Amino acid sequence: MADVSTNLTGSARVIAGGTDLLNAMETGIFPSSQYPTTLVNLKTIPNLNTIAVSGQTLKIGALAKIADIASSSVVQSGYSALASAASQVATPQVRNMGTLGGNLAQSVQCWYYRYPDRLGGRIVCLRKGGTTCYAVGGVNTYHSIYGGPKGCYAVYPSDTATALMALNASIVTNTRTIPIESFFDALTGTVLGSGEVITEVDVPTPASGTKQTYIKFAQRKAIDFAVVSVSTLLTMNGNTVTAARIALGGVAPTPMRSTAAESAVVGQTLNATAAAAAASAAVASATPLAYNTYKVPILKSILTQALLT
Ligand SMILES: Cc1cc2nc3c(=O)[nH]c(=O)nc-3n(C[C@H](O)[C@H](O)[C@H](O)COP(=O)(O)OP(=O)(O)OC[C@H]3O[C@@H](n4cnc5c(N)ncnc54)[C@H](O)[C@@H]3O)c2cc1C
Repeated sequence: MADVSTNLTGSARVIAGGTDLLNAMETGIFPSSQYPTTLVNLKTIPNLNTIAVSGQTLKIGALAKIADIASSSVVQSGYSALASAASQVATPQVRNMGTLGGNLAQSVQCWYYRYPDRLGGRIVCLRKGGTTCYAVGGVNTYHSIYGGPKGCYAVYPSDTATALMALNASIVTNTRTIPIESFFDALTGTVLGSGEVITEVDVPTPASGTKQTYIKFAQRKAIDFAVVSVSTLLTMNGNTVTAARIALGGVAPTPMRSTAAESAVVGQTLNATAAAAAASAAVASATPLAYNTYKVPILKSILTQALLT
């Protein structure tokens, strides 16, 4: 599989459900020199769609369908943030075709990147090897409010990734295991290399007494990506937070852990004051663009809600 690429280089790409890749091939993401000439169908590989707990780890095969993750009683009972996130992806049709591996490796939805031919000419943005992120000085309603660490301000779109970051998952490939916080790249999407495919996602079982949530704010109830999403994992001793993992989606080029919010809430009695303080800490470092300042109060609101749920 040496020439199979999961990023924008190379002539061959892997395909799972095809719900993102085929759309990307139709809409003009690929410059003609990089248009895939070979698709390698992962769905012919057996046993990559299992969902099972082994010891203290939930193991989900890369080909597990989003719908099956959402409806799994195992996921719903022990990893409810992930079940909730999966249930809010797209539509029933997409959830029944789309896989977890494809959901994590999907392309960003930035209109300057995704639809280069619809904007009066073929745009080659920074993410495609150009020199400019057109969102910065353009219409950036749905873009990053936490900057562009590598110059691109597109936001990472996956719902499951935000929950998996709160749950401290690891991404297993055919060559290595990658902690989720090291899996994403602000310019290429993921750190997957040539010939590297996701085979499994491992989720440590949260300690008993842990509270977990996933809340998504989108403009429509279905067929819509998160404008902002949050996922929280709180370990409690009575009403006191003893440990926290808080992940944000739709607000940065990668899913983002808010250690500022975590620090604000750990050691506190969980009440409206503590939740509001954590939400304020989360947005303290936000640097919204001209058209997306509205995301800041939404993020504060749904993070407060998530912490108090
Ligand atoms: C109308 C619509 C609405 C949507 N709304 C949402 C939403 O609200 N939330 C959300 O999270 N997503 C949303 N999506 C995205 C959707 O969830 C993804 O398209 C889907 O999960 C991708 O899975 P797939 O198996 O179809 O991937 P494919 O389309 O087959 O592949 C997508 C990408 O992942 C790569 N890939 C696939 N499997 C692997 C693997 N095992 N290892 C390495 N690389 C791999 C492919 O090469 C390709 O680059 C939406 C999509 C559509 C079409």
